[in-house]
Order: sequence, then structure tokens, then C-alpha cells
Amino acid sequence: MIPPAFDYVRPADLGQALKILKEREGEAKVLSGGFSLLPLMKLRLAQPALLVDLRDVVDLNGISRVGDEFRIGGRATHRSILEDPALGAALPIMRDAAAGIGDPQIRNWGTIGGSVAHADPAADWPAVLQALHASIVLQSVDGERVVPARGFFVDTFVTGIEPSEILTEIRIPAPGKGSGGSYQKLERRAGDFSTVGVAVQMTLGADGRINQIGIGLTAVGDAPFAATKAEDALRGATPSAEMFREAAGAASRQSRPADDSHGPAEYKRAMVIEMTNRALAAALVRAKG
Ligand SMILES: Cc1cc2nc3c(=O)[nH]c(=O)nc-3n(C[C@H](O)[C@H](O)[C@H](O)COP(=O)(O)OP(=O)(O)OC[C@H]3O[C@@H](n4cnc5c(N)ncnc54)[C@H](O)[C@@H]3O)c2cc1C
Repeated sequence: MIPPAFDYVRPADLGQALKILKEREGEAKVLSGGFSLLPLMKLRLAQPALLVDLRDVVDLNGISRVGDEFRIGGRATHRSILEDPALGAALPIMRDAAAGIGDPQIRNWGTIGGSVAHADPAADWPAVLQALHASIVLQSVDGERVVPARGFFVDTFVTGIEPSEILTEIRIPAPGKGSGGSYQKLERRAGDFSTVGVAVQMTLGADGRINQIGIGLTAVGDAPFAATKAEDALRGATPSAEMFREAAGAASRQSRPADDSHGPAEYKRAMVIEMTNRALAAALVRAKG
């Protein structure tokens, strides 16, 4: 199928883009990598009257460290995240996730902002950002909002973003000493969306106990979510195989998978246990350095 006719603009900077979105509120949509939006338009599930292509808004492409946080531009591609040396060294979980997204073409063009704004219930970044307690920066002509990734993913393909807002940046606290993370993705074939995806970032105190913990799950609910019950089980605990099994069970009980072409819900619940265990074990190894 081909999409219905639409207008197309390529603003030169963020200010112009925001102005156009405000003027055409409700009928304009932002175009980033196009890998999610264009297929929807071809199926006529999305019918924007105007596409606002962000490719010339180069200020949104960067990845940097500012003080105690990493800042990733909304138009940073999966590949640029995969290949950023400072980000990868501090947060190898970001490399784990980026490496498993789609194929080289998707990674070259698809963007983190597009993935987060699209909010596919099986997307990888939303689980990782919740495990990392990241924040999402949204801009409109009226100003800037910084919202926690937790709570941003409201439902399937539904987020807290307003039609006149652009996701300009993701902010991730830089991990301190004793911190390690891992993203474990179960997929049917390389390049597929997750059957189950589990992101873990943990920080160990001087006494070896878990000081901070973040666990994000994808593909096993209406939207990616934080496995808060598993986090509660682990916070303050000394890491052990038994504790990890308990937490993995809690994560599985909090998940709400559906039967689909990736497998029955019962299988996915079992896989949440397995992948959570693997992610916790891998994160612990990294946290211990
Ligand atoms: C074959 C295939 C395999 C894939 N595999 C995976 C996978 O394994 N894991 C995974 O997580 N994803 C996967 N994806 C999705 C891929 O990561 C997409 O790139 C991503 O979901 C959307 O990013 P995009 O830059 O292409 O956004 P677009 O398609 O351009 O936009 C998507 C939506 O977000 C909005 N939007 C985009 N950018 C912004 C912004 N800065 N501010 C506000 N709104 C914005 C658009 O208006 C649109 O509604 C796959 C996609 C395909 C086609």
C-alpha cells in the first residue's frame, strides 16, 4: 500500500521545527529514522497531513557527558550509541542493547528518540532507560520538561509526549564505583524484536550489598515497565544465586505477557525468570569490575 498524500518540511533548526509543530498541532508528525512511522503510514494506520523531518536538526545528534550524567540527543542513532567509546565504557548495557536492535540498516538510521517516542511494547530502549533511572527531555515552543523514564511509557504505543513536543534528549546518571549493568534479549532470530528483554543496572556498596538496583522489562506487558517487586527484593541484599532466583520470580509474576507469534504467555513468563537471572549475573560480574 502507499500512504495518502502528505506535506513534507525539513526545518533547519529546532526552533523552526517546534514552531511548525505548534502551528500544525494535531496534524503534523515528526520524522526521525522513519523505520516505525513510514510502515505505519503505508498501512494507513498513521495519516499525518505533514511530516516534519528532523534530519537537519543536527544539534539532536550528539552524545556527551555533562557533569554526572550522559546526554544522548533524540536523533542519536542506535549505531552512534553502539560506537560511542565513553558511553560504552561507563555503561556497557547501552552497547548490549544497541547491538541487538534490528539489522545494520536499522541501526544506521533508527534513532533512540524515535524508539522512545514510538513506544513499541517490545522495544529495547524503554526497558534499558527504566533500569538506568534515565530522564527524558521534551521541548515545545512553551519550554522544556524533564520527565522520568519510569512513568513515561503509559500503554502500547502511548507515552507522556504531547503532539507539539519534540524529544530532544535522554539523560542518564553516570554510574559510580561498583556499578554494573547488562541487557539480555531473547529473540527468535538475530534482528527480531525481543520475545523477552531484561535490563539490569546495579550498584554495590563497600560492604558488597546492593545499594541501587534498576530492572526494566520489555515485550511482556502492554508497555515496557520497571520490575519494582524484584528491585524491592534485591535492594540492600547481599547478591547470591538464591536472591537472584527470588527476584527473577518476582519479575515474572509482575509481567503480563500475551500469547502471540513469539510464543505462549506461559513460555514468556518462564523466560522472564531465565533472562532476569542472566541479566543479574552479568551485571554483578561487571559491578565487581
Ligand atoms: C525490521 C525492523 C526491526 C527492528 N528491530 C528492532 C529491535 O530489535 N529492537 C527495537 O527496539 N526496535 C527495533 N526496530 C525499531 C527501530 O529501532 C526504529 O528505528 C525505532 O522504533 C523508531 O525510530 P525511528 O528513528 O525510525 O523513528 P520514526 O519511525 O521516524 O518515528 C517513530 C515515531 O516517533 C516519533 N518521533 C520520532 N522522533 C521523535 C522525536 N525526537 N520527538 C518526538 N517524536 C518523535 C514519530 O513522529 C513517530 O510517531 C525495528 C524496526 C524495523 C523496521
